Amino acid sequence: MALTPDRVLGAELLPLYEKVQNQERLSREDGLLLCTTPNLTGVGYLANIVRERKHGAKTYYVRNQHVNYTNICNKFCKFCSFYAKKGGPAPYQMSLAEVRERLERHRDVPLTEIHMVGGINPRLPYSYYLDLVRTVKEVRPGVHVKAFTAVEIVEIARQGKVTVDQALADLIEAGLDSLPGGGIEILSDRVHSELFGKKLNGEEWKDVARAAAKLGLKQYATMLYGHIETDEERVDHLIQIRELQDETGHFLTMTPLSFHPEATELEHIAGPTGDDDLRNIAVSRLMLDNFDHIKSFWIMNTVPITQMALWYGADDADGLVQEYEITYKAGEFGNKRQYLTAENMIRMIQEAGRIPVERDSLYHEITSDQLESTVRAPRSLTALPMAAV
Ligand code: SF4
Repeated sequence: MALTPDRVLGAELLPLYEKVQNQERLSREDGLLLCTTPNLTGVGYLANIVRERKHGAKTYYVRNQHVNYTNICNKFCKFCSFYAKKGGPAPYQMSLAEVRERLERHRDVPLTEIHMVGGINPRLPYSYYLDLVRTVKEVRPGVHVKAFTAVEIVEIARQGKVTVDQALADLIEAGLDSLPGGGIEILSDRVHSELFGKKLNGEEWKDVARAAAKLGLKQYATMLYGHIETDEERVDHLIQIRELQDETGHFLTMTPLSFHPEATELEHIAGPTGDDDLRNIAVSRLMLDNFDHIKSFWIMNTVPITQMALWYGADDADGLVQEYEITYKAGEFGNKRQYLTAENMIRMIQEAGRIPVERDSLYHEITSDQLESTVRAPRSLTALPMAAV
């Protein structure tokens, strides 16, 4: 029997089929229905209509490396396993020489993006952040530097005793190309005060996003789910992000981030299920009609869920992450892997029945020739002066 929309969607979701086909904006009530219906297949079916309208079978990936320059942090977020604490990870703070060494470790791997975030470490001076960006650009000329969440940007401005606008302008001059997501987790005053009260609140986070947009920076959006947030708060988060995108137009991608409770203060929480992971991808795709891309970050969602997610609204599988310390390090939590080779990534996408397309950070499709000629690290490197950290 044919898999017609009415059979897949049933009476409950069929009204949304008309809206999705007509490209109408979905309401808060629609979002809540998508979050709560037991018909996950129907939700995925709707999201896939939007995904294929925008991108066909293409699935994007990027060659990137993550650098987490310090895990010392004074924000103490309850969901965070990354920051240094008693009985947890030992504190570290990378010197510029160590950052350089991290980058050179993968110098023979062609990369187009360095993704750099860290804790809020009050010992790091303003000049450190500028030199950090300059170091990356020197070791990897031509690479796109995606760095510093909104919380870090506010700390950098505080260290420099300058405005957020000025800090962003100085970072852009040093080589900053875009801001990553993160820093707000979920736009809810309740969750903010319960889990991450020392960080920026929602309005402060939005102000940094507006300042970045004004200076021409692109930014990535995220939503951390699977902790204490409700379905209503998830939908409200997506609607607030959608409204901000209407205003600024500077967000490139939404990445729903699957919470990992291991080694956090929320270890007693079971964490997201496969249903949660697929549903949040699909609901994001359907609610964010003004976003071009929805990403399944395989390192948090796992490779198998990411393969499924490519049929639930995701058109991006992130990258060939070389090292990632925010959620777990190599060897921890069942030795989860931290990198995929390009061949692994291509096979993962093809096996899921999609077409792999390599992209740069701004979603331009790139060829291997471009990759070879622009981003390989030079063989001889000149030293930068060390920052006093
Ligand atoms: Fe610090 Fe970020 Fe972890 Fe919060 S999430 S404790 S700001 S490193």
